Amino acid sequence: MTTTARASGDTDASFVETCRELFVARFGGDPAGVWSAPGRINLIGEHTDYTGGCVLPVAIDRRTYVAARPRPDGMLRIVSHAYAGQPPVFLGSADLHPESAAHQGWAAYVAGILWVFRNRTEIPDGFDIAVYSTVPIGAGLSSSAALECAVAAAVADLTATAVPPSELARLAQYAENAYVGVPCGILDQMAACVCQAEHALFFDIGAGRYEHIPFAPESHGLVLLVADTGISHRHASGEYAKRRESCRQAEDILGVPRLGDIRAASLETVLAALPDETLRRRVRHVVTENERVRRTVELLRSGRLAEIGPLLLASHASLRDDYAVSTPELDAAVEAAISGGAIGARLTGGGFGGSIIALAPRDRVPQVVAQIQGAFTSRGWKPPAAPLIPRIADGVRRDA
Ligand code: ADP
Ligand code: MG
Repeated sequence: MTTTARASGDTDASFVETCRELFVARFGGDPAGVWSAPGRINLIGEHTDYTGGCVLPVAIDRRTYVAARPRPDGMLRIVSHAYAGQPPVFLGSADLHPESAAHQGWAAYVAGILWVFRNRTEIPDGFDIAVYSTVPIGAGLSSSAALECAVAAAVADLTATAVPPSELARLAQYAENAYVGVPCGILDQMAACVCQAEHALFFDIGAGRYEHIPFAPESHGLVLLVADTGISHRHASGEYAKRRESCRQAEDILGVPRLGDIRAASLETVLAALPDETLRRRVRHVVTENERVRRTVELLRSGRLAEIGPLLLASHASLRDDYAVSTPELDAAVEAAISGGAIGARLTGGGFGGSIIALAPRDRVPQVVAQIQGAFTSRGWKPPAAPLIPRIADGVRRDA
């Protein structure tokens, strides 16, 4: 998918209107409202969420918009602009079981939310839902959580169920785990629900504590770029499950409830207690990555954003060498960004494809972009689309 800069005139209001128009064209009549949730970039703290560690995402100004209206017959009708060639998906109440999710394709991400709400409270209503999104799908920016969280906000509002944002995130994660069948951690949904503009979200998952940390690169003369390698999460789900399983095994052997509880000071002792090199590498990544998140947060808190570059690079090296989730394309993009003048760069998201982020002085952006393009073409790879330069945006909200 392309990640080119927005054309002028493409505002949030125009996307809300486009979503509303899609609803009217497919279902007739007006929606009861329009809600949206953002895609996210994780600045640092990768593969730490499912072991109760620390993450530091920002929400970006790419959003998934959901126009919705309740219907009295319990039926769920869904249409998405991303699958414009397909007719609306119709699901009756009897279809809302996790066993039928496998047949629903993308619609399972929507149906799963309704299933979770129905398990929680009596919701007699069905819904008509139209989806319009500017979040690239499968590029590591979490289009899935943006969709789930926007739908969750719509269903919560339309059923007058008061749900605080962090609880909305938990519901959406549960839907993705139990209904769609993707064993994701809670990072993506927390980012989509809780993030604030011009702030990163420091979330210590084990402690259940989060804090908004100022993050405004432009006030330091810096730009955050996101470059999509164009490789869509190759082998991602099987390998992701293996990494989770390695972490679980290590927790069993070490007798700790969560790897996220292990501090860097005890790393050597912990590694010595593990029986093989693969487990040692996986654990070393998790423990050192949590430490890097904490150090990044300390730098940001003290206004030293321009010093976080080496931590981003160390994170990438750890994901590449110890956690083995990088690809040649991600490595080449990171190296090229640095040789073009970026002060830090790393893969973002789960790896095996998707995007890198780079933090670069504003005047070096053209060189960074040219180096990445050159690195791909010289290897005979399809050059990536122009990088996205996102604004740091707010989490889930009602737009209309
Ligand atoms: P990502 O990193 O983008 O979250 P995932 O594989 O986790 O990648 O989720 C992508 C899936 O989420 C898509 O294949 C589709 O099923 C669903 N999805 C995301 N955005 C949309 C959308 N706008 N319309 C319909 N389905 C979507
Ligand atoms: Mg996802």
